[in-house]
Amino acid sequence: MLEVSNALDIVLGRTAALPAVSVRLSAGALGRVVTEPVTSDLDSPPYAKSVMDGYAVRSQDTLAPANLTVIEEVPAGRMPTRSVGPGQAARVMTGAPIPDGADAVIPHEEVQASGDMVRVARAVKPGTFILPRGREMRAGDVVIPAGTVLTPVAFGLLAAVGRTDVRVHPAPRLAIISTGDELVEPPTRPGPGQIRNSNGPMLVALAALAGAEARYLGIARDDKAGLAMLVRDGLDQSDVLVLSGGVSAGKFDFVPDVLRELGVESHFHKVRMKPGKPLLFGTRGATLVFGLPGNPVSSFVGFELFIRPALRKMGGQAIPGPTFVPVPLAADLNADNDRPTYAPATLNRTADGLRVHPAGWFGSADLRGLLVTDALIALPAGAVSYTAGFAVPTLPLNL
Ligand code: AMP
Ligand code: MG
Repeated sequence: MLEVSNALDIVLGRTAALPAVSVRLSAGALGRVVTEPVTSDLDSPPYAKSVMDGYAVRSQDTLAPANLTVIEEVPAGRMPTRSVGPGQAARVMTGAPIPDGADAVIPHEEVQASGDMVRVARAVKPGTFILPRGREMRAGDVVIPAGTVLTPVAFGLLAAVGRTDVRVHPAPRLAIISTGDELVEPPTRPGPGQIRNSNGPMLVALAALAGAEARYLGIARDDKAGLAMLVRDGLDQSDVLVLSGGVSAGKFDFVPDVLRELGVESHFHKVRMKPGKPLLFGTRGATLVFGLPGNPVSSFVGFELFIRPALRKMGGQAIPGPTFVPVPLAADLNADNDRPTYAPATLNRTADGLRVHPAGWFGSADLRGLLVTDALIALPAGAVSYTAGFAVPTLPLNL
């Protein structure tokens, strides 16, 4: 059976970054990856400016205690009209341009002002409290390289260089179908033999937090025609189609058949992992198709191990993940699993650093056990006996 790492290689091998589009700098653009180097259209600051409220002076006038004549007051947003000559100073506010002639700023709390005179008792070096023109950036500098993630700081920088839009890899469009005759949508109270559909809302939310545009198509009943109708819709104008349920070998698990009949090429249909073994991955053209096992925790783990990385790669992220990091166990751990296992766990910050605590968890249907966790730990197949402090591969769930 296919190992997780090989399955991930297959998925990522079939996944490409989406072609660039232009977006406005609104909340929807946060987290997108820039596809073009963004250059500055001007020097910043555009003039030498004061970083203090104080007095612009000639530093050589301060070598000995001196009384200087204040010739002008320069607020931020106005250019000085006079240059500072020997024995003179100009009052400058934070952000104000430095007048010609001056080469240092003395903060106002360090001088004694009376009338139009200031007494300077301490020598200042040239350049003190002045941000030189172009110190932050020069016109033509690349300030945001291609590949940068649009963070709030990047928004600020784009604004500083006059940009209101930028080219990025767009949000992947993801369609979601739940399958199962037993499912009812909340708030409906399940009848005999029925359960509520947990996966639909969970997958929509996972997709949203992963930066995708999710389209929920509803529940497909366990019959071929109904399923085919929704799958057709899901394949249309989607970058990714995700189905939950109906991928196992049960009599009514029609997902593999229907996908094949609709032209989806299957690349694998089982992965050596727990939970979530009967995971199906296929493609039709550039559209990726994932069939996740219906148990909610299986669906969740399948999303984290395969779908989130694919979405990251489509979005142009350099590191698609999943990125497991070694974290010491908070307590002893004994396990004996027949397959490599991804178990819910909790990360705790301690004085000695991060510790991971396996969660009480009864298996792939236990969404309640998963609620209070914020990581998955990877355990190998077979019997393991770890003592507290042993570092296990841990995937933080930065939801
Ligand atoms: P399946 O993969 O269709 O064989 O389903 C496996 C288990 O997950 C069954 O117990 C289903 O009832 C349950 N299940 C399937 N889909 C969902 C869903 N959308 N929400 C909650 N449980 C589900
Ligand atoms: Mg089912």
